Amino acid sequence: MTGLSGVRIVEAVGPNVTSVTIEDCVGIPWSYSACGECDYCLPGKETLCHSQENGGYSVDGGYAEYCITAADYVAENSENLSSVEAAPILCAGVTTYKALKVSGAKLDDWITIYSIGGFGHVTFQYAKATGLNIVAVDIADERLDLAKKFEADIIVNGKNEDPAEAIQKQVGGVQAAISVAVSQVLFDQAYRSVKRSGTQVAVGLSHEDLPIPLFNTTLNGITVKGSIVETRIDMKEALDFAARDKVKVQIETAHFSDVNAVLEKVLVHCFDIHRFLQNSMLLFLFSSNKHPKNMFYGSISRIYFY
Ligand SMILES: [Zn+2]
Repeated sequence: MTGLSGVRIVEAVGPNVTSVTIEDCVGIPWSYSACGECDYCLPGKETLCHSQENGGYSVDGGYAEYCITAADYVAENSENLSSVEAAPILCAGVTTYKALKVSGAKLDDWITIYSIGGFGHVTFQYAKATGLNIVAVDIADERLDLAKKFEADIIVNGKNEDPAEAIQKQVGGVQAAISVAVSQVLFDQAYRSVKRSGTQVAVGLSHEDLPIPLFNTTLNGITVKGSIVETRIDMKEALDFAARDKVKVQIETAHFSDVNAVLEKVLVHCFDIHRFLQNSMLLFLFSSNKHPKNMFYGSISRIYFY
């Protein structure tokens, strides 16, 4: 069953579940569960756990009438955030928020975001909320307009000039380049945008080989990092930003009966914008406690997929 993450109202819980109760509104993340005991889980890096399960990948995801999940790994959703608003935060939101975290960029640093689409416009808002200066790079007028709307400090149209050269010229390079869209061209541009001691963060996935210039990486002290979502603390922090109105994801909603048509549109637009399906559904919760047989049932009143 596909569908990575979603938001549900708990209808029932198992006998050993104490972290959530019936009627709670919870977010179900891609990181469905992890072992809780390994060298990665213990320091809070459960997204690197070799025994992790992932919704819509190794276990059933959210595109279903009923959803079962591990109670220890759901995120509590604030009353200040509707299910529709919270759902994209559980994927695009926390993914990009995490990328900014691992970039090491600090207040008033310059960063650049390549592609202001679905993930990019969310990255943008988290960056603004954390006091970063932003260079927005894209080649689509529609997306560049969005960057203007969000008050990007500098906007670069990659069709008209080499973004890396423009960034080096205008601000001397950025502390961090966030690559939410990955191709050889964009990866190279993002790499060349970074200043000495800066960091390039790879968020998007690609089957292409992305060569890193070893000479310049060593000489300039450049770091190239991958960022994989999402630990429980990442989710809590990302949702908190949204609950305080710092991040507003552009969304569309659709009825669940239109699921096939919506997914087709998503594929065509290739993540340009997040689309959500809304329907009445039920949720079952597992008691986690590290034992998959300790399951519980919970229910929900609404669901939004993307
Ligand atoms: Zn583990």
